[in-house]
Amino acid sequence: MTLDQITALVRTIPDHPKPGILFRDVTTLLLHAEGFAAAIDQLAASVDDRPDLVAGMEARGFVVATALALKLGAGLLLIRKDGKLPGATIAEDYALEYGTDRLTMHVDACAPGARVLLADDLIATGGTALAAARLVRRAGAVVTGARFLIDLPDLGGAARLEADGVATSSLLRFP
Ligand code: IMP
Repeated sequence: MTLDQITALVRTIPDHPKPGILFRDVTTLLLHAEGFAAAIDQLAASVDDRPDLVAGMEARGFVVATALALKLGAGLLLIRKDGKLPGATIAEDYALEYGTDRLTMHVDACAPGARVLLADDLIATGGTALAAARLVRRAGAVVTGARFLIDLPDLGGAARLEADGVATSSLLRFP
């Protein structure tokens, strides 16, 4: 499948979650067997150095991270919203347009020096992925890169991640 064909499987929903926002909805891509497989194959092909773990950010990041981990022969690290993980956690807050949100990770989820690739469905401002990178680094592990199905480059997230030393790439770009 071409990138244009994969792009066409992403639905755009205007005014979600609030007026003026164009929400890029990957659920329609996930429903398409060939499109989903092609997207994951192509994203996995962009990873040259196999990580020990792929870290997915709740919730759609779990889908991308699980598929990538299986493809790359890596383990899966779940980075979750506050209050969901049963064991001892570390937490990082990040700014939203209004207020803050919090991501957590089991404190013993990755061994010191483990090589961790971040994955999510979409990068916008990069706040979510940067918080995930801080968690992984606090655990003594190494962030080897970040992969997304979709980049919204106008919002600057990929540039922020690169400035933080995280090699970032995405399959699709939406203006
Ligand atoms: P960021 O933290 O500003 O980079 O926002 C990225 C996070 O918000 C990811 O976890 C995405 O799942 C979610 N997100 C933001 N905008 C969209 C969108 O248009 N479609 C799907 N997810 C989005």
